[in-house]
Amino acid sequence: QDAATARGLTKTYGRAGTEVHALRGIDVDLPAGRFTAIMGPSGSGKSTLMHCLAGLDQATSGQVTVDGTRLADLDDTALTKFRRDRVGFVFQSFNLLPMLTAGQNILLPLELAGRRVGRPERERHNQIATVLGITDRLGHLPSQLSGGQQQRVAIARALISNPAIVFADEPTGNLDSTTSAEVLGFLRTSVRELGQTVVMVTHELDAAAYADDVIVIADGRVRSHLTNPTRERLV
Ligand code: ADP
Ligand code: ADP
Repeated sequence: QDAATARGLTKTYGRAGTEVHALRGIDVDLPAGRFTAIMGPSGSGKSTLMHCLAGLDQATSGQVTVDGTRLADLDDTALTKFRRDRVGFVFQSFNLLPMLTAGQNILLPLELAGRRVGRPERERHNQIATVLGITDRLGHLPSQLSGGQQQRVAIARALISNPAIVFADEPTGNLDSTTSAEVLGFLRTSVRELGQTVVMVTHELDAAAYADDVIVIADGRVRSHLTNPTRERLV
């Protein structure tokens, strides 16, 4: 079962004469329950691919299917709802709300979706906080947390609504190498212990070593799709 697939995906920015071909025909299958890294040099199309897979951006041609739904079949309202309910996001810049505690930030997606926070939701909240090692930080404001802790809260927020996929865009870009390793370890733990499918865009080789699968993009094409059958850590 694939969490997401892309077929013949192209994305062209700009107008005739000055076009930029960011994606030139991408076919990928992202298996469920695995940690996939999308790698490649700056400008190779990684972010564009992630944005198309996540329904944040529309491809010029080709087909994206996420969790069995063809994104092209959804109108804007349905796509927004789909993203909110079925997809989680982790960004380089954490994007936590400064006036809310860590615990409140984590529950925010449920509030925004108008979902009641009952017993099952609280249990999931506790489970995720335990897996990510932030149970003793839930009452703190983001400003009272280290960068690594803030990113773990952001990961918890991405996981709370049990999304089909969590997309992480350069999640360690603002962290030092020790903290990066810690955050990558927690992303990996989310895949192992919660069965979460995670797709991470990164240009850091160290970060990709935490993934099960690595898709290498160059000049808008898939150069290679490496899978690690043992799922042992590479470094
Ligand atoms: P990466 O994430 O690998 O750095 P991107 O997907 O951001 O690559 O960009 C791929 C190409 O598309 C680059 O040449 C970039 O300049 C171009 N590009 C990205 N976004 C836009 C945009 N909104 N308008 C025009 N060109 C863009
Ligand atoms: P940066 O890498 O510059 O810090 P981010 O990683 O925060 O930027 O964001 C990457 C892209 O994702 C941006 O182009 C932005 O439009 C989009 N984005 C950021 N936050 C959200 C969000 N909460 N929901 C949807 N899209 C977002």
